[in-house]
Amino acid sequence: MGMDNLEISKGKQAQRHNILAARALGETIRTTLGPKGMDKMIVGSDGIVTITNDGATILAAMDIPHPTAKMIAESAKTQESEVGDGTTTVVVLASELLKRAEELLDQGMHPTVIIKGYKLATKKAAEVLNNLAKGFKDKNKVMRDIAITAMTGKGVEEDKEVFAKICVEASLATETKRKNIKIIPIPGGAISDSSLITGVVLEKIPVRESMPRIIKNARIALINSPIEPKETDVESKITISSPEQMERFVMAEESMLNNLIERILASGANCIFCEKGIDDAAQHSFESAGVMALRRVRHADMKLLEKSTGAKIVTDIMGIKKEDTGRSKEVKIDEETTIVKGDGPVATILLRGGTNQVILEVERAIEDALGDIAAVIEVGKVLGGAGSPEIELNKQITDYAARVKGKEQLAVLAYAKAMEIIPVTLAENAGLDPIDVLAKLKNAHGKDKYAGIDVEIGEVVNTLTKGIVEPLKVKTQAVSSALEVATMILRIDDIIVNEQKRSQEVPFG
Ligand code: ADP
Ligand code: MG
Repeated sequence: MGMDNLEISKGKQAQRHNILAARALGETIRTTLGPKGMDKMIVGSDGIVTITNDGATILAAMDIPHPTAKMIAESAKTQESEVGDGTTTVVVLASELLKRAEELLDQGMHPTVIIKGYKLATKKAAEVLNNLAKGFKDKNKVMRDIAITAMTGKGVEEDKEVFAKICVEASLATETKRKNIKIIPIPGGAISDSSLITGVVLEKIPVRESMPRIIKNARIALINSPIEPKETDVESKITISSPEQMERFVMAEESMLNNLIERILASGANCIFCEKGIDDAAQHSFESAGVMALRRVRHADMKLLEKSTGAKIVTDIMGIKKEDTGRSKEVKIDEETTIVKGDGPVATILLRGGTNQVILEVERAIEDALGDIAAVIEVGKVLGGAGSPEIELNKQITDYAARVKGKEQLAVLAYAKAMEIIPVTLAENAGLDPIDVLAKLKNAHGKDKYAGIDVEIGEVVNTLTKGIVEPLKVKTQAVSSALEVATMILRIDDIIVNEQKRSQEVPFG
């Protein structure tokens, strides 16, 4: 690569360029924030259409080529993996922090001063949020409220009580271990037909129709090698020259397979889940023995079955013992699924209804709710939502700025001002007058630190009594992710683009 292929933007130009890209992204994502946020329709290069208002999903589907926008998308991804919710908030905050920074740059402030001020402000923000957060006594009620707040406006409107209940029960059954919850989207039927099952549901049925459709108090074997005669490998291929030899060979294979089957049945198992194949003869033997057997079970499902039934996944079939088997109070075939009931710590959510797109958006809403429930149980503290913490941040950080010496004070003030973007956007998206709402909120915060704008009714309410609550972790993570990406972008003073690469991509903004 020669220098001819490099295009270099320097200093101010580079910075403005990056800020512009970040702001363009912020403006795009902003209209989806909150219960009244709009959806985006994204048509992928593969022609697949996604309709969603989930920040992380939009960013992933947009597949933005601009490097700055990519960095912001990355920070939303961090938010998604750390908490599972609040991704739109991160993008909107980061973009607003950069917009305010631009104003300071215009006034001739150096980026390092802005960064220093923003860092001070973020530290203060964490302190304010921690002081604002509340513990709770009624765990189940808080879990429900958290789920409802997360799902409001997410395409589950009429059924959000049903789903909140499902999310709470799934969390309780799995001790809020998200990876122990399986979600199966099944298009068709009504959304309200969705249900929760403690245990594992497999999207497949036994290998033979005449196997039992239901087994009570089942004894489970989990096997991850093929229940088949061992294949003769190519190298050691034996030459069969006579019919007698052939017969001997077939018999040896048969007796080997019979041994496997015998061992499995001797373990007492009457319900077999095999990650690999099951030979026809073995299928027949299991069928005659009244045993249920499923083959090519997904590895992830095997792991869940292991946790749910207490069975051990066995590789060496000849060594299978009674102790390796597990239990299920009922294994039942239901349409195209096999339900393996358990008592925890595994649960399956069966999502039904509508088209594939509707159901995927419902799934994302549930993911958010499950993430929020886990975050609230982990930290044990909630904040109000609906813009209430951001107004309090605006207020307390503005007060704090008065005590900050030097030019950094202006950056701290800019940070405080940037927090207003959340309530402003929530109001705007709901068709309310943002200036009016902001004034009302600031006024209310004179006596109520938890005042927020309930966009469902268009009024300022006490968010805690109204049950509009969010995990503390969503906000603390959001302010820290937003700061991180904003400062990373502010620090860049040169953009060096390899022309060869550039010609393949269309830059954003
Ligand atoms: P994110 O991806 O950041 O979670 P959402 O679209 O889920 O974005 O919106 C979250 C915001 O919506 C939070 O600030 C939350 O407090 C707010 N919110 C939730 N319910 C209400 C409500 N009834 N009124 C106003 N704001 C609400
Ligand atoms: Mg959300």
